[in-house]
Amino acid sequence: MNFKIGVIRGDGIGPEIVAEAIKVLDAVADKFGHSWEYEEILMGGASIDKYGIPLTDEAIAQAKSADAVLMGSIGGDAKTSPWYKLPPDKRPEAGLLGIRKALGLFANLRPAYLYNELKEACPLRDDIIADGFDMMIMRELTGGLYFGERKTEEIDGVLSAYDTLIYNENEIRRIAIRAFDIARKRSKKVCSVDKANVLDSSRLWRKIVDEVAVDYPDVECSHMLVDNAAMQLVKDPAQFDVILTENMFGDILSDEASMLTGSLGMLSSASLNETSFGLYEPSGGSAPDIAGKGIANPIATILSAAMMLRFSFDLDEEAKAVEDAVTKVLKDGYRTIDIMPRDKSVVEQINTAQMGDKIVERL
Ligand code: NAD
Repeated sequence: MNFKIGVIRGDGIGPEIVAEAIKVLDAVADKFGHSWEYEEILMGGASIDKYGIPLTDEAIAQAKSADAVLMGSIGGDAKTSPWYKLPPDKRPEAGLLGIRKALGLFANLRPAYLYNELKEACPLRDDIIADGFDMMIMRELTGGLYFGERKTEEIDGVLSAYDTLIYNENEIRRIAIRAFDIARKRSKKVCSVDKANVLDSSRLWRKIVDEVAVDYPDVECSHMLVDNAAMQLVKDPAQFDVILTENMFGDILSDEASMLTGSLGMLSSASLNETSFGLYEPSGGSAPDIAGKGIANPIATILSAAMMLRFSFDLDEEAKAVEDAVTKVLKDGYRTIDIMPRDKSVVEQINTAQMGDKIVERL
């Protein structure tokens, strides 16, 4: 198959980790008889340096014309980079928000998977993680509290502020459908998280999720209140498959879940719109502290590319081959510096490019 992939290499470690993901994608193309056309797109600091703004109309048009976009990370060191002397809407991060909005990316997927080989990095007790965990947090990304009307005002000399949390049934239905579709490709369980004992928006959320669930009799649907979900994540993370939730709850729970895996350099993510299009990027930032040293962990970006194969190109076998190759490299004892165990004698430390090479070898 042929696909056009937009490539945003980004700033800091972005170009280093994206290069390794492309190495792996090329190996997948060779092995499975596909071809990819890459189109370079400038965004973030790299775009500011060339055009004075973090996201141009041309970049948006390029992204829209691609089948999917692979992105490194954008941004720099807020204390030293000249980008942060610009007004907030001209800084690198504004490009990220702009592209998400322009592409209508309403569904954010963040897997949290505990590799047996990296269990040491998990802050939970051994008995809790004995069987590992493998969950996908699906967060609504373009509605809810972060996008509702807000105001700070002084009334009779007293300051007050409000934010509003609005969802309509269409916004809930489209992400619920995505969640159930994805659960079908996994362990067929959706746990929808809300605060339906208090919030009207959550009661609507629950009603629509239940309506969608009727069309997926093969997928188990359950509901959990968000305070309980926060607790269950540390008490028994293995119970979860797909967690479906609104914007703010997802923001908080996905960070909690990612901490359980213990390693930022391993966490992939995808943001999807209503078509098969998606933007795929590692969960971490541009890590300016290690940029240019060749030591960044490229695995999160490589696993993001695997998500692209699965969710945008419907190439499950190819995605699984990449994921298996990553697992094999860890099993074989290779680690970048960020995931080195306490006992360093049992593994071999390798750099960014070597990690890409080892994964390609195992494909
Ligand atoms: P960060 O995620 O870049 O770094 C936090 C720590 O994790 C650092 O010590 C870094 O070295 C380490 N780290 C991150 N990714 C790693 C990898 N792949 N391999 C090894 N170590 C890794 O967070 P930060 O320092 O708060 O932010 C730096 C810049 O990144 C800021 O400009 C921020 O705005 C930006 N940022 C961008 C995105 C994005 O592009 N989606 C996300 C978060 C932060």
